[in-house]
Amino acid sequence: LNFPTHAVSPPKRAVNGHSNHTNHTADRLQIVNDEKQFTSDLSDQISSWGLRDVGFDYNLVAVFGSQSTGKSTLLNRLFGTNFDVMDESKRQQTTKGIWMCRGHDMNVLVMDVEGTDGRERGEDQDFERKSALFSLASSEVLIVNLWEHQVGLYQGANMGLLKTVFEVNLGLFGKKSQESSNQRTLLLFVIRDHIGATPLANLQATLTADLHRIWDTLSKPAELQDRKLTDYFDLSFTALPHKILASDRFESDVRTLRGRFTDKSRDDFVFKPAYHKRIPADGVAFYMEGIWEQVQTNKDLDLPTQQELLAQFRCDEISTNALVEFNDQSKSQKRPIEAGKVIDGLGEMMRSWRSQALSRYDREASRYHQGVYKRKRADLVGTLDSTLSPLFLGQLKNLHKAALVSFKSATVAGLKVEGYNFADVVGKARASAEARFSDGAQEAVVTEGDASWQWEEELRLLREEIQSIADQLRKDETKKMVNAIERNFKKQIAEPVDLQLSRPTPEIWDNVLRTYTDTLADSEYSYLSKARSFDCTDEENDQAVATLRQRAWAALRAKIDEQTVDTAILTKLRSYFEERFRYDEQGVPRVWKPDDDIDGAFKKAKDVTLELISLYAKIVPQDPELAYTPPEDGEDDTPGLVVFSETKALELGARFRREADAHYIEAKRSTVVGIAQ
Ligand code: GDP
Ligand code: MG
Repeated sequence: LNFPTHAVSPPKRAVNGHSNHTNHTADRLQIVNDEKQFTSDLSDQISSWGLRDVGFDYNLVAVFGSQSTGKSTLLNRLFGTNFDVMDESKRQQTTKGIWMCRGHDMNVLVMDVEGTDGRERGEDQDFERKSALFSLASSEVLIVNLWEHQVGLYQGANMGLLKTVFEVNLGLFGKKSQESSNQRTLLLFVIRDHIGATPLANLQATLTADLHRIWDTLSKPAELQDRKLTDYFDLSFTALPHKILASDRFESDVRTLRGRFTDKSRDDFVFKPAYHKRIPADGVAFYMEGIWEQVQTNKDLDLPTQQELLAQFRCDEISTNALVEFNDQSKSQKRPIEAGKVIDGLGEMMRSWRSQALSRYDREASRYHQGVYKRKRADLVGTLDSTLSPLFLGQLKNLHKAALVSFKSATVAGLKVEGYNFADVVGKARASAEARFSDGAQEAVVTEGDASWQWEEELRLLREEIQSIADQLRKDETKKMVNAIERNFKKQIAEPVDLQLSRPTPEIWDNVLRTYTDTLADSEYSYLSKARSFDCTDEENDQAVATLRQRAWAALRAKIDEQTVDTAILTKLRSYFEERFRYDEQGVPRVWKPDDDIDGAFKKAKDVTLELISLYAKIVPQDPELAYTPPEDGEDDTPGLVVFSETKALELGARFRREADAHYIEAKRSTVVGIAQ
């Protein structure tokens, strides 16, 4: 044969996992030892055979038969394995146990079951039964190895083995065979040391008859009474010549037989899909260990339950693995987000981490029990989303903050530009801040339409905050504008009012109030025309106009007060009096002559001047229309129409009289002086 002859490596049961063999097909592993313990190294061994990730793309074959019937020899020839072969010179008994190898250059796991003929040696049949269970639960093909001379020996040990196989199979697959398609097994009978005197066809007929007889004699549960052997098994037969006596033919026939395990195109290719037990390669170790444990503790072997347990275990493992990279990825953005940073393209990243993790999970886990796979997938989605959700919410929070900052700085900049339109500035800043938030929030959504990724409420809050900032800004700006208008108002009334107050006529207050109302109308117009860009409410406008009026009035009153302080009013009285007493109608200074009516002139001038005190004392226009222009008296702190009090008027009168008297005496004296000259 073509197989390289490997040095047989020592049994690996104590060695954990990997070996130094570069050719991993040379490794073999005792998966169940003679103390019926299951190895903990199978999973690693399957990995180092390179089969871990092949999914269903592998096959499993086991052998059954009496001891020393050349089973291991056959397996090594067929699959290039290196199972122990009994040393011909010593004829030593090999130990009990189950061994596994990987077929050379093929995705085939081969199990060699040793020591299965306890009945011949009067031992208990415990191991035989257990290994049969174990093999059937996992193998697609069971090679039944027997000598030609054992054929027809119905009472022989091999028939006892087959009875065991059948019984075990009924227990395993009996009830479920209808529901599940992948619980058929091929029994491949290999008749050894075929001399050729009896043709294979005859041997096959004898064996088939024997098998049916065995099947019929099985005590089957009532509900399975009608089941036939062929409901569960396909049968196939082949014969091999004597290995030593016809060694050339033996080798060539073995080679032909090998083709049935390797050449998928052959009609008699043995690994038909119907035989596959549908255990993904990465779950084989866990599954087998579970089966063996059940077998060991003599529990009923319920394969669907085993497969579900396997699925749970593996889906959890796969899920955990799928999360490792995902957790690293999501962690990388956790800090920046907590620090308040808006991460560009966060949504795209999150969606990609999530779908990568899910596809890592799906790739392996989807091969397992569908119910379990889906349930665990939903759990995984939950874990993924609950990891991403804080990032999403943090991003929203940061976007919200950034939008507010950009709104503020855009409005501040806009309001610095000469001739700005408040509504425009705020409107543009608001639109761009909201768009910035909405775009960012939309981008960060992981699953469209899912309740966990809503951002409308956050947008609503942002809008509220922007609105309140805008309101505050508007108030501030309105206030500034009202102040400016007030300053302007003061400037505008200063000169005319000064002038008007210095000319006491009966219309003095009409003049002053007209100046006031005209200037106020200008101011109000100016306010309203600017306020249009502020989007102020009517109420706010009314309020601002009222303020403006009040301040304008106060400004006017301040002006009036300034012009009517004692000294100012006395100056006004004095010059009014002098104009009338010391100057004649033509404005020429009088030189009093003794005949002049000094007394009469003095009295007249003094009386008209004294009348001015009551003119200045209260704002009383002649035109009744103008009486309505000042604000109503007594409102708030609004100064009213009274400029100075009665007492004040009396006091001013007294002071003026003293001054006037002095002028009178001076005038009198001047005539005396004139006479004296
Ligand atoms: P196992 O116990 O069934 O695994 O048998 P082994 O493969 O260890 O072989 C037991 C003995 O039978 C060894 O000495 C082999 O050389 C010999 N042997 C192997 N194949 C054949 C065969 O086809 N015919 C005969 N007569 N002996 C064989
Ligand atoms: Mg052997």
